[in-house]
Amino acid sequence: MGFLDGLFDKFRQGLKRTQDVVLAPMGRLLGLRRLDAAQLQELEDLLLQADLGVKAVDQLMDRLKSELKRGDIDPKAILKEELLKLLRQQPAAPFAARGTQVVLLVGVNGVGKTTTLGKLAAHLKARGEGVLVVAGDTFRAAAIDQLELWGERAGVPVIRNQMGGDPAAIAFDGAASAKAKGTPWVLIDTAGRLHTKDHLMKELDKIRRSLQKVIPEAPHRVLLVLDATTGQNGLVQAETFARVAGVTDLVLTKLDGSAKGGVVVPILERLKLPIAFVGVGEGVDDLIPFDPEAFVDGLLDV
Ligand code: GDP
Repeated sequence: MGFLDGLFDKFRQGLKRTQDVVLAPMGRLLGLRRLDAAQLQELEDLLLQADLGVKAVDQLMDRLKSELKRGDIDPKAILKEELLKLLRQQPAAPFAARGTQVVLLVGVNGVGKTTTLGKLAAHLKARGEGVLVVAGDTFRAAAIDQLELWGERAGVPVIRNQMGGDPAAIAFDGAASAKAKGTPWVLIDTAGRLHTKDHLMKELDKIRRSLQKVIPEAPHRVLLVLDATTGQNGLVQAETFARVAGVTDLVLTKLDGSAKGGVVVPILERLKLPIAFVGVGEGVDDLIPFDPEAFVDGLLDV
């Protein structure tokens, strides 16, 4: 299956928990043509529970109220229009092969970085494009083993060095090998355990410098992986990461396990970075490009 097939179904499936827990009661309100003060309040509360964020919810409610002053409304159509405005502000650049492109994945442990890397490798490979995976988190044996499994499944080579080895050295080897062979994609896993900003910055700088000895423009993309189940609570940490790591795109994982699917909106607002992909499950097909239209349709399909 291609990246864009069945996107709406994937989003609907990914947003199921948000719908069941929070949005299902909204269906009745969205079917009304006039809403009284109590119904408006109920709608506002539900939107906040979905973690859309105070700013966006204020904006949505203002629009609904001003339309109501003029007569009957279609709340679903209005919400859809306003949400699309918010979500279209940061479109992601497509993942198109051009020479050898180096992609770094960054994020704290447990957010789904390794899984995302595996899914991305499998998709690029399924598109017929060569991929080299670099196990750059040299301290986590489990992460390296997991990457090797994904590599086997996807038919993609994985390079690693010994435990505790230098991530910058293995990144250099990966970039050099891909460049020599004309491999279009190098996907590099990085450590997520670094406690301090200084540590993180130093390690990523070192990786960056060694990549640039091989490919001056590298890394072409830096993906910050975020876990949707933490909702807005994870935003402060994400902001710090985004600042020190030179992040170009976001990946939001575990949307399927989260009842706070609306968090996409405050994430885009706060971080001002595009969401390239979202994770909607643990399977290889469960990484999908973020598509505002399919997302909003999935969210409001109640
Ligand atoms: P890492 O520590 O950041 O490398 O995280 P892992 O890739 O090991 O993932 C941590 C857990 O989250 C694993 O059990 C994954 O299967 C799970 N996971 C990752 N992405 C998703 C997703 O999109 N949906 C669901 N439901 N689980 C996911």
